[in-house]
Amino acid sequence: MPAFKAAAADNAQSVSGSTWTFTEGREGALEGPGWAVYLPLTQHTIGTDCGVGTTAFAAALAGWQKKNGLKPVGRMTPATASDLTQVWHAQRRHAQKARTEACRHAEEGRLVEVAKGDVWGKPEKLLPGAYRAYRAMIEAAKREAPAIFAGNVNLKIVSAWRTQERDAETCKTRKCSKVSMAPSCSAHWSGTAMDLNVGFIEGHSPADMDWGNRLFMVQQPAYRWLLENAGRFGFANYFAEPWHWEWNGD
Ligand SMILES: [Zn+2]
Repeated sequence: MPAFKAAAADNAQSVSGSTWTFTEGREGALEGPGWAVYLPLTQHTIGTDCGVGTTAFAAALAGWQKKNGLKPVGRMTPATASDLTQVWHAQRRHAQKARTEACRHAEEGRLVEVAKGDVWGKPEKLLPGAYRAYRAMIEAAKREAPAIFAGNVNLKIVSAWRTQERDAETCKTRKCSKVSMAPSCSAHWSGTAMDLNVGFIEGHSPADMDWGNRLFMVQQPAYRWLLENAGRFGFANYFAEPWHWEWNGD
């Protein structure tokens, strides 16, 4: 039997199969019907474009498992899911700092207004460095992947700086996801995070935790381009939210 054939079959099943939990430190656990929402990020991390049910994907996963001190079985396992989320989490400088330092809240006077052409809806504010990095990234995306800007899939800013008070208020008046709306310390409060419109299903919104909506998002060219390129401009993704990108430069 070719190497990793059984692992490939197992991955093809578990990716959209039984309940799967991706944990993320103290921010809690995320359960879903499989791990398809995290597949593009997983492919990016383990360094393969190959489909989830292929032996090449299983081999790449085994290589990553070996490098990270896990048994190189080539199958997605709870330990692998846990280690992957830790790696993704570690790329977010703000979240790392918040573990040991006081939570950062931006002074409103230090923030700049985002230009009308860059917001998806209401006016938004960001730290100047974060906004400059966003502008540079958008100009690059326009040059390198113009198709992203067709229709409403345009990487415009849906939400940027928010205050802790405002997020708490939102949670009181509306059902809020425990991980996205009520974190112990949000990068949005520091003026370095932005939620970008990467595309969404009709009837949903650009920042909507619905599983099907997120599955749609991670398959969009805008998200795929960000995965490959946002790091060049100092941005890291919060893995559970395809729209949420944090600037690591401050
Ligand atoms: Zn966000």
